[in-house]
Amino acid sequence: MRVNVARLKQDLEALGVIGRTPEGGVSRPSWSAADLQARRWLMERITAEGMQARMDAAGNIFGRWQPGGPVVMVGSHIDSVPNGGMFDGALGVLAGLECLRRIKEEGVRLRYPLELVAFTDEEGAFGGFFGSYAFTGALTLGEIQNIRDSKGLRILEAMARHGMDALQAPQARRNPQEIRAYVELHIEQGPVLESRRVPIGVVEAIVGIRRYGITFRGRADHAGTTPMQDRRNALLGAADLILKGHKLVLAEGTPASRVTVGILQLKPAVANIVPAEAYLAYELREQSAGTLWTLAERSRALAAQVASAWGLDVSVETILDIDPVPMAEGVKTAIVAAAGELGCKIHRLPAMAGHDAQVVGRVAKAGMIFVPSKDGRSHSPLESTADEDVERGANVLLLTLLKLAAE
Ligand SMILES: [Zn+2]
Repeated sequence: MRVNVARLKQDLEALGVIGRTPEGGVSRPSWSAADLQARRWLMERITAEGMQARMDAAGNIFGRWQPGGPVVMVGSHIDSVPNGGMFDGALGVLAGLECLRRIKEEGVRLRYPLELVAFTDEEGAFGGFFGSYAFTGALTLGEIQNIRDSKGLRILEAMARHGMDALQAPQARRNPQEIRAYVELHIEQGPVLESRRVPIGVVEAIVGIRRYGITFRGRADHAGTTPMQDRRNALLGAADLILKGHKLVLAEGTPASRVTVGILQLKPAVANIVPAEAYLAYELREQSAGTLWTLAERSRALAAQVASAWGLDVSVETILDIDPVPMAEGVKTAIVAAAGELGCKIHRLPAMAGHDAQVVGRVAKAGMIFVPSKDGRSHSPLESTADEDVERGANVLLLTLLKLAAE
């Protein structure tokens, strides 16, 4: 059995038009008008295939036609970053839909039912993973009340505009025992598969993330009258940490270790005043929990060291603390066997970005299949995956689902 790739491409194009930007990208942040349109489109597609479409209290969308359980789940997300690409998330959902459609068409009898899922806000318009957190029972009422978008809009208001009550989202929790496995097909979003000319990536683990908000505090002084040796320049602490953190991760991390400072804010931010305060977002990623912990502790120690060297105070606030999640052996084995049957070479690699599979993977057996991203580009209108790679990935997904549901 193989997927109908023409039909899958049609679906990708149809969904890719929703929220299309002038640059040819896609803007479908969660709970935006485009996201709502995409949700309606997906529910209609599921229904049109003779399956039951359902939205839960967190806005997650499901499709299935067989009763019973535990279920083998397949999916991803259909929201996007602003001006992102048409494959990120959408490929996993629409290839999942195509797999279910083929299996239903062929009338294959399986031991376990299949279920399609599109999770809410994977990309983080409202912090990220709202749907998969709710689905796995990781969302509390207190947290929901504080979730806002970058403009300060509360998710309570955003969902209320669409007739939904965000406080009901914890009801979306599914008993993990009802989930036999979760499989997510996704673009790699990096250059590894393309550069190795391997069509299928088998994800070993999804990296953990530690994100710190670090504030160095010194003293605002006149840029002309204050001698160099008398200054307490907060920016020097930040600059020193950025360079030393970079060297630390190169020297003591693994090839999968990352450190990134993506935000640097100064106060008072006036050209002729010595910066009194420097805030930076310092983010570490790593696939081994032990290495991540070591890098995080060393980074915190570095922040204290450089602060004292420059005569500054420093505070470190943990903003994000996500453990690495290894993918389930049974799911990886099924993916490898499926790729083998199709004659596809595989490469085992960590996922360096966040995915719903890492959230589901904490409570149930989860696995991910990667397909190559052209030039490693993603979260951009330039995001692209070749038709042959879409087809191979979808066929590996199809055989993987058959194996997991038949055993
Ligand atoms: Zn994604």
